[in-house]
Amino acid sequence: MESNYAQWQKQLVKCIRCGTCRSVCPVFQASDNENTTARGKVKLLEAVSEGKLELTPELQARMSKCLLCKACAPGCPSGVRTDELFLSARRALAAKNGLPITKKLAFTGLTYRKLFDLGLKMGALFQGIVFKNAPDGRGKLARIPLPGAGLSQRRIIPPLATAPLRTRFPEINQVASPQARVAFYTGCMLNYVYPESGEAIVKILKAHDIEVVIPAKQSCCGTPAFTSGDYQVGRYLAEENVKLLAAGNYDAIITGCASCGAALKHEYGSIIEDPAVKKSWEDLAGKVKDITQFVVDLGLKKDLREVNAKITYHDPCHLVRGMGVTKEPRQLLKAIPGIEYAEMKDAAKCCGAGGTFSMAYYDVSRTINDWKLDNAEKTGANILATGCSACRMHITDGLGQRASRIKVMHTAEIIAKAYGLE
Ligand code: SF4
Ligand code: SF4
Repeated sequence: MESNYAQWQKQLVKCIRCGTCRSVCPVFQASDNENTTARGKVKLLEAVSEGKLELTPELQARMSKCLLCKACAPGCPSGVRTDELFLSARRALAAKNGLPITKKLAFTGLTYRKLFDLGLKMGALFQGIVFKNAPDGRGKLARIPLPGAGLSQRRIIPPLATAPLRTRFPEINQVASPQARVAFYTGCMLNYVYPESGEAIVKILKAHDIEVVIPAKQSCCGTPAFTSGDYQVGRYLAEENVKLLAAGNYDAIITGCASCGAALKHEYGSIIEDPAVKKSWEDLAGKVKDITQFVVDLGLKKDLREVNAKITYHDPCHLVRGMGVTKEPRQLLKAIPGIEYAEMKDAAKCCGAGGTFSMAYYDVSRTINDWKLDNAEKTGANILATGCSACRMHITDGLGQRASRIKVMHTAEIIAKAYGLE
């Protein structure tokens, strides 16, 4: 632990207590509690590193009250890497105190790929027992409160797909004259929850004469595990994925989920320990591209169909600050005939999902989400495009609860529509 503290110290001493991070922290804005700001957390970790505070479960709860939205890191005038610091702290706290048994079991389940797959397929078949359809058809509502799963009876969640994405396509999707050969890393959400977005991505790539391999043995990217501090599971999943993807010698690794993309491209660098796998990851990371980046590089196809819609775009934290993708989705949407693009205020502000944050602190995450929905509705848009499944789920929940007419779509689905690939 000493080496951890020494590393923390290098960051902690840089904090000049200026409070710039307060002005961008959604959790602070929603709860008005200094402990929730980056500055407050830095102060707590400073006390730990000086031996004045223990790694207690109370501190663990405080460190979990953070969306890991990365909004505080880029604006910090002293360059404190708050994002890295908070992940490291969660890791130390989980090592000391453990994680709730439900989380631990769920994360361990991710390492048994076939069992996990079977579990979700069974879940899709029997979800009607625990969930009923939401009134406006946007998703499902729990029949009884399920606090262990972070589900109140008002929370609308998407149904599990009865036919996951990876059962809808062969592993290798050939084209007549391939211009490139890519791996499509679907991750869990596109596979089990939003297969239609994944289908759009495969069809777009094939329309550009790209051979698409959807590796059958891919595992969860590990984000839920390592952001909760479970580095044992996070590292195992990261190393398995890198070994699998490196073996394919692909021209690019395409992602359609912001969190998966940010993990594969950046986060794995501080998780993987095996030197050989780390080297493979270093060679691979530059090839990881969000689908919108890849289509911009290829150039939109000609002869686009009109998509008559007013569209606004929400920047997922893991795309805008995780992968540096912000202009590409807008560029594509604005280039499609028929689309009236309307930028919303604070488009790059976190939607409040924050992975497991919204399960633990649903009311806070709803408050933050409501600001997003207010801004989206002010644009008059009828479609909100985004590129993160967790954001989509959380925003759809909020829109359903306020009976909004806005529909959420993955940017790739809108491109596929313009390509006539529905
Ligand atoms: S912005 Fe950076 S330097 Fe300023 S209080 Fe926050 S962490 Fe400290
Ligand atoms: S990562 Fe986001 S939620 Fe966490 S302290 Fe920074 S700004 Fe606040």
